[in-house]
Amino acid sequence: MIPVLIPSLPETDAIVPYLRRIDEAHIYSNYGPLTNAFTARLCEFIGAQSGDGPVHAALTSNGTAAIELALRYRGAGRTGRYCVMPSWTFIATAHAAANVGLTPYFTDVDPETLALTPEIAARALRANPGDVAAVIVVSPCGAPIEVGAWETFEAEHGVPVIFDAAAAALNLRHVGAQPLCVSLHATKALGIGEGGAIITRDAAMAAAITAMTGFGFSAGSRVSEMRGGNYRISEYAAAVGLAVFDDLDARIARLREVSLAYVAGFARIGVSMQAGFGRDWLTMTANAIVDARVVATVTAAFDQSGIQWRRWYGSGCHAHPTFATCPHDGLAATDGVAKTAIGVPFFPTIAPEQIAQVCRCAEQALSSC
Ligand SMILES: *Cc1c(COP(=O)(O)O)cnc(C)c1O
Repeated sequence: MIPVLIPSLPETDAIVPYLRRIDEAHIYSNYGPLTNAFTARLCEFIGAQSGDGPVHAALTSNGTAAIELALRYRGAGRTGRYCVMPSWTFIATAHAAANVGLTPYFTDVDPETLALTPEIAARALRANPGDVAAVIVVSPCGAPIEVGAWETFEAEHGVPVIFDAAAAALNLRHVGAQPLCVSLHATKALGIGEGGAIITRDAAMAAAITAMTGFGFSAGSRVSEMRGGNYRISEYAAAVGLAVFDDLDARIARLREVSLAYVAGFARIGVSMQAGFGRDWLTMTANAIVDARVVATVTAAFDQSGIQWRRWYGSGCHAHPTFATCPHDGLAATDGVAKTAIGVPFFPTIAPEQIAQVCRCAEQALSSC
């Protein structure tokens, strides 16, 4: 059997030096020294990738909480029931909006980029005049986001945009004021177990959301200045995070190598992958885009050969009972996208022979069609 995903985090020995620092400091949470060091490394890493100046981060307990806090911060004082978002996303996006009192309004995605576009979002605003509180733009499985286009959109329409960049921590090319919410879950490319972050160039936003993660206390005080809760990470999570950064160059090199092996293997048999995957950006999920007429044959062949596969976003959020009554825009392309984006086995330790086996199995299935 080839599993679809084997998460891997730093091993014990790499974490121990940081655990000893916790033993010495007797600080276990509440923005301790390891959390501050991890935040600084995260900002440094993303600032270097984005190449346009310093960025700021508010760490959160997970990616879903990051989306919730970004929505609460940006939506404060706004009216409107709806949160516009693509249906084709991980279900966490819909939960985050619902948890802050908004109703998801599900939209379609572009069948080429698999992402929400400003045109699709503008149509959703026209369909719900005055009733949209926020727009969540999702990075599909980690693909880079066209931040500039969304800055223009927000300036034109006056509706706050936040980014669910949960799987895109390695691919944040442009960081503006609009919050980029990332997940540090074990299954993501920059996984630390559980954790999340809001990345922005707006220092005041990062400071305010950091305060929201600790009951709204402003820095160094015990006076609650704004609504919040407990969304902090512990020093133990930060210890894992620091060990992740110690080995990140090697992990990125390995992810690139296995991604490119897949791109080449599938290209040889005429199957494309998510646009730019491996070449331009890295993630922990590899999606083959399989023609709708043959996808059932290919997945059946995977099943027969013990090759695990997954539709990472299922059939879209609207197909889940919890959100089945939410309004949507007709979702013309969503079914096709959901059917044809097939997650294949992918993880840093996958062997070239396993990748070859997946591609061979797909090739045989295609030749039988
Ligand atoms: C993983 C993921 C989330 C949720 O992140 P957690 O850290 O698991 O809460 C949200 N949106 C998308 C698109 C994701 O892939």
